[in-house]
Amino acid sequence: MEEDEVNRLKAKVAELEQENTKLHKINSALKTRVKRSIQKTGTAFGVFESNILLKKEIERQTRDLRDAKDAAEQAAKVKAEFLANMSHEIRTPMNGILGLTDIVLDSELTEEQRDLLETVHQSGHSLLGIINDILDFSKIEAGKLSISPHPFSLTDLLSQIERLLRPQASKKELSFIIESGDTSDNLFVGDESRIRQVLLNLLGNAIKFSEREGAVLLRSNVDVSTSSNEAEVSFIVSDSGIGIAEDKQEQIFEAFTQADGSTTRKYGGTGLGLAISSQLVKCMGGKLKLFSQPDVGTTFCFTLTLPIRENLEQRAEQENSANGKQKAERGISILVAEDNKVNQKLIVKLLNAKGHSVTLVGDGEDAVAKFTSESFDLILMDIQMPLLGGIEATKRIREIESK
Ligand code: ADP
Repeated sequence: MEEDEVNRLKAKVAELEQENTKLHKINSALKTRVKRSIQKTGTAFGVFESNILLKKEIERQTRDLRDAKDAAEQAAKVKAEFLANMSHEIRTPMNGILGLTDIVLDSELTEEQRDLLETVHQSGHSLLGIINDILDFSKIEAGKLSISPHPFSLTDLLSQIERLLRPQASKKELSFIIESGDTSDNLFVGDESRIRQVLLNLLGNAIKFSEREGAVLLRSNVDVSTSSNEAEVSFIVSDSGIGIAEDKQEQIFEAFTQADGSTTRKYGGTGLGLAISSQLVKCMGGKLKLFSQPDVGTTFCFTLTLPIRENLEQRAEQENSANGKQKAERGISILVAEDNKVNQKLIVKLLNAKGHSVTLVGDGEDAVAKFTSESFDLILMDIQMPLLGGIEATKRIREIESK
């Protein structure tokens, strides 16, 4: 082979080798790019895929939460309805037991019969008190406790309380003092029955935890604000009783809690009274406060802001009272609409005992029919009755009257 030809071939080989190295580089660069791009696509797809899964999960959780919320609302509604029905169902037979025992106690009995029946009556009262506390407490727990304000006389409220509690205080020979700072005969707008409930609980405790011959005081102060038509009405209940140790003063407001473990055995009680009272006062816009010293005594107090209403009714009532009294003393004709057999018996006995004549019907439709065919001085109507409830029946009677 000629030397020229050899050199030409060598140059060609070198050129090819260079080309080959270049191609290798390009190849590896391409490989890296493809690899990266595959990775990228993979991640993007992964993110895309997990986004869809996340969205589905969020949707599922939102649905679950909504279902749980609906179920909780439904359960609260069912619980509230159950409570309302229960309180009606339990109180009705209890009223029967207490009312009919009262009637039998008014009749002629041997000493032993009277003693036994009085114990039945006392036990019935205690049971009703406990049932009422449990129902009230459940209502508070369910957030269903409602306050219904209407005009009331503070003076009348205090004298009712005195009438109810003086016998208990006298039994322990306590001096029982009630002082009212209300000098007007104005009415205050508030939930009288809830205020009464709180005061009866505080005074009941004051009597219970006072030693014989001690003292219990209820004082109400009225501070009429000059700028608005409202008054600050404060109530103070004080006793010279056993007192409450400082480290127990906070916890006695909790449900089922008593200052001293031995209290239940010695004094009885459920530990619900103060929990209910402090919640009731809170619902009415006040705060139940406590000051106490062991072996010296205890004071509970609270203040409510209550609108004032002029007592026009009382004036009108006073003018008519002489008339009304004469009529009531003579006995009147009363239409009673009540479906419960025990209540029917109780009402008829009570009204007959007072000299009134009673016509009894078992539902609202019969009440309307009787109203149109006979004349009555008074109609007493139950609310829950078959066929036609008391409110609807009353509406119909009012419509007939206005024609
Ligand atoms: P109960 O009286 O049914 O036990 P309360 O909630 O009304 O429930 O009272 C809780 C506790 O607070 C009582 O058991 C008692 O230990 C204490 N207490 C309440 N009022 C008084 C008081 N006036 N004097 C002394 N202790 C009291």
